[in-house]
Amino acid sequence: MAISTFNGGIHPPEYKELTENCAFEIMPSPEEIILPVSQHLGKDAQPVVKKGDEVFAGQLVAKAEGFISAPIHSSVTGKVLSIGKEVTPSGFPKDSIIIKTDKNSSAEKILLPPLDPETITPDEIRQRVAEAGIVGQGGAAFPTYVKLSPPKDKQIDVVILNGCECEPYLTRDYRFMIERPDDLIEGFKLILKALGVNRGVIGIENNKPEAIRILSEKVKSHSGLEVISLKTKYPQGAEKMLIKAVTGREVPPGKLPMDVGAVIQNIGTALAIYDAIVKGEVLITAALTVSGKGIKNPKNLLVPVGTPIHDVIDYCGGVTEDAVKIVVGGPMMGVAQFDLHAPVLKATSGILVLTKEEVEKSPETPCLRCGQCVGACPLNLVPTKLARYSQLQKYEEAEGADITVCMECGTCAYTCPANIPLVQWIRLGKQKVLQMQRERVTN
Ligand code: SF4
Ligand code: SF4
Repeated sequence: MAISTFNGGIHPPEYKELTENCAFEIMPSPEEIILPVSQHLGKDAQPVVKKGDEVFAGQLVAKAEGFISAPIHSSVTGKVLSIGKEVTPSGFPKDSIIIKTDKNSSAEKILLPPLDPETITPDEIRQRVAEAGIVGQGGAAFPTYVKLSPPKDKQIDVVILNGCECEPYLTRDYRFMIERPDDLIEGFKLILKALGVNRGVIGIENNKPEAIRILSEKVKSHSGLEVISLKTKYPQGAEKMLIKAVTGREVPPGKLPMDVGAVIQNIGTALAIYDAIVKGEVLITAALTVSGKGIKNPKNLLVPVGTPIHDVIDYCGGVTEDAVKIVVGGPMMGVAQFDLHAPVLKATSGILVLTKEEVEKSPETPCLRCGQCVGACPLNLVPTKLARYSQLQKYEEAEGADITVCMECGTCAYTCPANIPLVQWIRLGKQKVLQMQRERVTN
């Protein structure tokens, strides 16, 4: 039987072996945490505490503002030191609440009342997901309750749980799948209930046979659920690629998964929903892989949200002498860090410490017109042309060539034998075009 996948894509070295056998460890609270009020797509949350306030772990410290937003809760018990601009993993400073941890406090974290997953209604699921501050754990950090509230005219017939984890190095979703399969399935069923959908598919790349084996066995006792084994190929976990592989449906440019009847949720999101409903926990813990050949003790960790990156690195034994680069996220779509005071956020999936050997690239040379980037682009774009338009600041032409459709997966740059930083040029051009489009709307 053919293994499901999509057209294009690449096979970068996986490096999963560095952490795939590392069970989650709970990292102790750091001396202080930094909580940006924007850890999600949408409007910033609004602080409801001030300097000097005592707060408990699990307490609301910033409330959601508007429909697309999410509240922020403290991950430690302690005192608010200040509220002001702090560096974040994106590189941009954001308004943040700094809390000094009270290491002597014996206070229990604040929980919401647990709810019965059997009798809970779809509206109650959405309400709890919103209250718990759950955002998508796949990277974009879209508020989850919005994704569970599709417009009435969108007929959703399948929900896909994204177990691909196609970025090299990262193994946190894999660990979740093998460490908490029952909770994961219950969380997935709550998602299906919220959306009123009967069919749920867990898509897993075939480099995770243990996760496929465990979950395939578990879903047998749940009608409507199935596990599909997918080809190991980057970016198999991108929403459009996953929908194509699982359902055969194409999401047209500018459209959303729900336009073709599908909703995608991440493994960590399903577990956060389970924890919020069954245990009453708000989202104050980030699950992440700390890996790369430059970290002394690679681990999978459960970290208090807001923990500075340098504390996580110290907890993992520090960096090796040949470490040259630190990335938050995966190596393909992650962001290189220049200030390790930046905190771990709700949706942080990994911290990679890379050595010279892992990041070294040959110098850039002129385009060979080999077409490899075109063949590899999973969205059938022409990366070489998009990058060229961006370099030449021809933004109208870039718009016409669908630059805004690019999902910045980095596949083209990875495949280019001339080492042209295609995705970097495209990202720049895309920002300019989006800005141009915003100005058109406001003028
Ligand atoms: S970064 Fe954009 S242009 Fe390059 S392969 Fe990915 S989707 Fe295609
Ligand atoms: S892969 Fe690189 S060298 Fe080949 S056509 Fe694309 S940009 Fe040019």
